[in-house]
Amino acid sequence: MKAAVLRNTPGKVTIEDVSIDKPQQREVLIRTSAAGVCHSDLHYAEGHFPTRLPTVLGHESAGIVEEVGPGVTHVKPGDHVVSCLSVYCGTCEYCLSGRLVLCRKRGLRRGRGGPQRLSDGDGGAMWQFLDLSSFGEQMLVHENALAVVNPEMPLDRASLLGCAVTTGLGAVFHTAAVSPGESVAIIGCGGVGLNAVQGASIAGAARIIAVDPIPSKREMALLFGATDVVDPADGDPVAQIQELTGGGVDHAIEAIGLKPTTEQAFAMLRIGGTATIVGMIPMGVKIEVPGIDFMSEKRIQGSLMGSNRFQVDIPRYVDLYLKGRLKLDELVSGTIRLDQINDAFDQIRRGEVARNVVVFD
Ligand SMILES: [Zn+2]
Ligand SMILES: [Zn+2]
Repeated sequence: MKAAVLRNTPGKVTIEDVSIDKPQQREVLIRTSAAGVCHSDLHYAEGHFPTRLPTVLGHESAGIVEEVGPGVTHVKPGDHVVSCLSVYCGTCEYCLSGRLVLCRKRGLRRGRGGPQRLSDGDGGAMWQFLDLSSFGEQMLVHENALAVVNPEMPLDRASLLGCAVTTGLGAVFHTAAVSPGESVAIIGCGGVGLNAVQGASIAGAARIIAVDPIPSKREMALLFGATDVVDPADGDPVAQIQELTGGGVDHAIEAIGLKPTTEQAFAMLRIGGTATIVGMIPMGVKIEVPGIDFMSEKRIQGSLMGSNRFQVDIPRYVDLYLKGRLKLDELVSGTIRLDQINDAFDQIRRGEVARNVVVFD
């Protein structure tokens, strides 16, 4: 099968013939229908985060089950599925205490010694990216990486539910647990940030303030339910938000992954407020906040993949989309072929409003 392979970092992906194994115990072979190009793919391609090479990138996808291995009970051939990198084992301490995104992933992967799920055809291993490797015509994954969805759901739209949408909505619903009437500021209006904006809207936040330097992203934020937008070029965003809200917000959600914006998220809280950090902060970066602020019960917390329980969340998000209450069409800036992924990365580098979705024949 054809797949987009990353061999070096920083580097570009190349389209290669990749061999995919037969499903073993609890594994599922999928015909990939669509895969979104996410900023995190680019982070790994640029070497900001480590991943074993060579690998097939991509982690936001939807497709149709072709074949299942022994012991698979959760899906069957023909099912329409959305993949999620929050694959969970169901037996570790974190899974059993309901925090599936923190799963220690016991027994979900093939051992290093034996045949890998993907290989280069000459027996050389091709390491699976985030247990998925979505930029290929087929995927071989553990069944606990899949949510079955209503077949009426268009699969190119469904693919977005595997990462950006689930992360943005989950940060609001699960990690921050925003209540109706609260005020929320969202810093960074890319794929995740826009979904935090629409999550805040669905959750009933009264004031939703979107912060982004790019005018087109602020416009999108208004479309996704922001009540106010802030341009950092107009002055300190913290001061702007304190002025708009008369003292700060109940929740600030950081969706970029930078030190200054993370510190701003904490600084723009009202007394008792909570900053939720969704952005991926590169290794080695330290965050500084004034210690005295803890006396006013301000909190700062991380959110991994929106603290999701994706097998519950994703079918619900599909329902919301099919009933016209969740925006996904507006997120897709273009559909592309597998050999256009490097161009899609360039668009992300330029900061354009871009959620390109690779669509397979
Ligand atoms: Zn992603
Ligand atoms: Zn687990």
